[in-house]
Amino acid sequence: MGLTAIKFCPRHGNQVFMEFCAHNGKIIDDGKVPGMKRIPFIGTVICNQCFEIHQVEELAKVDQNTLRQFSETNKVEFESKIRAVYQAINCVPKCLECVNQLLLTNARTAGKKLPFEAYENTLTFKDEETIKRLETYLNQRFTFKKSKIAHLDRAAFFTQYGGISYPFSIKFYYVIEKERQEKLLDLIEKFYASIPKKERLIQFYEAENIMKKSDGSLSRGKENLLLKKMIK
Ligand SMILES: [Zn+2]
Ligand SMILES: [Zn+2]
Repeated sequence: MGLTAIKFCPRHGNQVFMEFCAHNGKIIDDGKVPGMKRIPFIGTVICNQCFEIHQVEELAKVDQNTLRQFSETNKVEFESKIRAVYQAINCVPKCLECVNQLLLTNARTAGKKLPFEAYENTLTFKDEETIKRLETYLNQRFTFKKSKIAHLDRAAFFTQYGGISYPFSIKFYYVIEKERQEKLLDLIEKFYASIPKKERLIQFYEAENIMKKSDGSLSRGKENLLLKKMIK
């Protein structure tokens, strides 16, 4: 059972995909807002109909604490009930940013409070060419330390294109001195003079903290943030 995974969405690029029941999948495809109930412990998002038919309300009464106090038999029984619901709903993965777009449009149409802070004026995966250009621009005008992730063989700064619910961002490492940070902020400002999508998040971190997981893959541990600048 994979609740979330990173996959490619033609509209939003590589994004977190979440599992929805087949009905919700259809609702999303039709451009409508899906039901937002969840299967407990797994988190798969189901419609009201599935919530009722499969008596998920009963299962949802069991929290982590209650489950811990269950006897082994009850636990096995409970888990098999959850599994049965999961198997019955024929779940489909959907891009979270596609769903976020639906929630946003719906809230606006209904005149309701927006469900999250929207970034509609930021570089997205459709602007990869501009993002590449920005990276080259910075590399040519500033001396960076190399990233600790040796196989990347690149300067220790990383861009991440934005979506509808988060802005385009740049993370810099090892640029500690105020004047050097200012210099980079100035360079970015100059680059952006010709870019209409202004929203961006710029963060300076003291150092990289790369950790090797047991499967050999790398992840980042806690890193010390020195300066954070959001331009809207
Ligand atoms: Zn359903
Ligand atoms: Zn999408």
